[in-house]
Order: sequence, then C-alpha cells, then structure tokens
Amino acid sequence: MLSVEPINAYDDNYIWLVSTNEGSIVIDPGESEKIIKAIDENIIDLKGILITHHHYDHTNGLKDLLEKNEFDVYGPINNINGINKKVSDLDKFSIIGIEFEVIEIPGHTLDHIAFYSFNNGSPILFCGDTLFAGGCGRVFEGTYEQMFEALKKISKFPKNTKVYCGHEYTLSNIKFALEVDPNNEKLQSEFEHVQSLVKSNIPSLPTTIEKELDLNPFLRCNTLEIQKNIIERFNVGNSEFEIFTAIRKWKDNY
Ligand code: ZN
Ligand code: FE
Repeated sequence: MLSVEPINAYDDNYIWLVSTNEGSIVIDPGESEKIIKAIDENIIDLKGILITHHHYDHTNGLKDLLEKNEFDVYGPINNINGINKKVSDLDKFSIIGIEFEVIEIPGHTLDHIAFYSFNNGSPILFCGDTLFAGGCGRVFEGTYEQMFEALKKISKFPKNTKVYCGHEYTLSNIKFALEVDPNNEKLQSEFEHVQSLVKSNIPSLPTTIEKELDLNPFLRCNTLEIQKNIIERFNVGNSEFEIFTAIRKWKDNY
C-alpha cells in the first residue's frame, strides 16, 4: 500500500510525502524542518528525495536533509547541489518499492521533469510547477511551445492518474478559468467545491487527468467555446498553440 500526504511549505507549496512499507520519500522539499522532525520522531523512515526543478521553493530543504543522512536524491541534470542521481527523459528507477519513470517537461524551467508511476493501475504523477489544478506554470525559462508540448505529454497519461502539483493555486486558477470558459458547468461546480475546501484548509489536490481535461483551460484549447472567446478578445489565429499562448499571456497579466 502506498500513501501520499501533503506537507505544507512556504505560503502555498506542497512537499509530497510518499510512503510504503519500505519507507518514505519526499518530493520537492522546499523546506526541511517538518521532515527532519518526522525523521527524529521516527514517524518516517526517509529513503530518498525527488526534485522536479531547480527553484528554491522546491529544493531549499535539500542541504539540511543531506546533512542528516546520505539520501538518494533523484533530479534533473542541472547545477543543484545535492542531486546524486541525475535522471533524464524515460529513465526508470525504483525506490521504496515504487517504479518511477522520468518525463522531461521543460517550459516553466528548462530542467523541469516529472515523475510518473503506473502503480499497479492506480497511477500517480508528480509534476512540480508544470500542470496545476485548473492552470499551468508560468513560462520562465523555456518557450511557450515547450510548455504547450509539456502539457500535451502530461494530458496523455491515463485518465485516472492522480496528479500531485507543487502549489495550492487551485482557487485562483479556477477563477481565471471561468473567464476563459464561462459556460463550463463542471468548472462552475468545481469553483464552489474548491471554495469550501480552501475555507476549511483542506488541500484541493491531488487532481486527476480526467478532471483537468474537463476543467483546465490550458488543456482545452481545442474546444470551440474557448477558441471563440479567445479569438474575440485577442484577435489571434485558431490553432491550439495560438489559443494556448494567448491564454497563458492573459493569465500572466491577470
Ligand atoms: Zn517553480
Ligand atoms: Fe514553485
């Protein structure tokens, strides 16, 4: 049995704690304090660390964790201190009994990767700051083409894949999504639902690929409703990529 729990960090980051009977791993430890406390109190037996990209809010806890012990740290090929298992596209590795596959998804950063596991038919995906519930990451280092392709790759995973994103951005993403896709009834009811979760301090994640295909405007650039709205507002062409770019730029200034 596998469990995935969120550890809150900074204002809205999630460090994901994954545990099996063979131990635990953490994904994107932007901070170390709560993890070290859990190790010291024998609540977890930490076996390794996974890193999706180099931003400090996903990596800052590494140094302190590695001072504690020599963990296996899987991450992209970049200059982050502490990654001792550099991985790239389609690499596979096993840790705490889970087989992960690495997917390169540049766009938010050039080094961005995701970790996917089929997990005996209950697939899980850790995608950092690329796909968010109801939205996607900003394009900082890569190109809009790269981000578009990254989201395409992610959207092709099985519909029941549970998606663990790096931030709790869902409510503001859905507010924006409703501007892009105002007649989407599933989006309207999700807005109510997420509002009540946030009020009660309950994480809105994980999401699923199926849900995102229904709700996330960045994965729905091929729908006529969205195309019509975006072309009327921004006078862009109707290719999926042009629609995507226009939505992403709109969100940047929203
Ligand atoms: Zn980031
Ligand atoms: Fe981040």
